Amino acid sequence: MLISIDRVETIVVRLPPRSDFRWLSLSRPLGEFVLARIGANGFEGWGEVVGLRDWGDADGRRHGETPATISAIVHEYLAPALAERPFALGEVSTRLDEVVVGNPYAKALLDIALHDLVGHAHGIPVHALLGGLAREEVPVAHMLGLAADDEAVTEGMAAVADGIRALQVKGGRDAERDARLIRRLRQEVGDEVLLRLDANGGYRGRTRARRAVEALAAAGVDIVEQPLLGLAELHEVTSGSSIPVIADEACWTPSDALEIVARRAADALSVYVGKAGGIARAREMCGIARAASLPHDLNGALELGIGNAANLHVALASPAELLPCVIPVNAPEAAYPTATAGRYFTDDIVVEPFAYRDGALLPSEAPGLGVEVDLEKVAHYRVDGRETTA
Ligand SMILES: [Mg+2]
Repeated sequence: MLISIDRVETIVVRLPPRSDFRWLSLSRPLGEFVLARIGANGFEGWGEVVGLRDWGDADGRRHGETPATISAIVHEYLAPALAERPFALGEVSTRLDEVVVGNPYAKALLDIALHDLVGHAHGIPVHALLGGLAREEVPVAHMLGLAADDEAVTEGMAAVADGIRALQVKGGRDAERDARLIRRLRQEVGDEVLLRLDANGGYRGRTRARRAVEALAAAGVDIVEQPLLGLAELHEVTSGSSIPVIADEACWTPSDALEIVARRAADALSVYVGKAGGIARAREMCGIARAASLPHDLNGALELGIGNAANLHVALASPAELLPCVIPVNAPEAAYPTATAGRYFTDDIVVEPFAYRDGALLPSEAPGLGVEVDLEKVAHYRVDGRETTA
């Protein structure tokens, strides 16, 4: 099918977080999301991204976006370029890359909405557009933000009580605190729960990073994520580590993934639809992980139901080994299937809760992303918006 765009609307919404979740470099509270609503061929598709301005790789090699930059790039350049002539879904990434270099979140916003729209047009779920289900569920890792030890342990225990079997612990500010917290969590949750420490690049310097990773391994961590920034430095720490190292800030695009594989800079890849520039590019990264026999996850920046559904469909269809994913369990206010696990906000813009069982999210066979958007909620939480018509 060739897509003929009629209109592209972007809407910025702000929702209150359940708690003050933080990680290293996150300088303002979570809760700002950019939505896209695209009309084409008599169908509608929704997209969503969280463009964090203070998150990226060493030396600004990959860098953040904001709702304002995303809106400007979409309406000034990307939407007009797509509206010029009808196009196939498979052309989207290339066409967007021809118009603007970089700005993956702005591109992902449109790419997600177009996958949703084409899924609706064909009456099939996005995972079917990607080749179909490679697994029956996606294991969820619950994120513990930078918090005092007692608070982090309480949150972790509550998530495990909800069936969660993997925790991502934010750290990187104080290596001693990180090892101490991992040791305590290991004692509290036992050996069955996967513990992953995300340093967000915070262990500055090779020697300090190497020592920090050794201490975490001794404390019982299973995986360390992005101990420091920079590919050469990451390679050195990874090659000397007794536990697997996963690349996140260093792994945005398919070319980043290829470089990590070629330089053996990490043992696993952290893939997000947002930082990759859309579903198509994230899917390419899953293929690279498979070819290199590296596991990967499908994480994000704690999206609402639309953005998270995009991550979920890519994870469900990935041909590679999948690690537990740091993604929310999205649900409207009164219908959360969990008390703590995957709950980062007090509400969502989806009508139905995501299907959750025993620490995992389950696939939906509904067309497109499988998400019905609550328009009243969108209007309620809306803080800004803009529209382009063809
Ligand atoms: Mg990370």
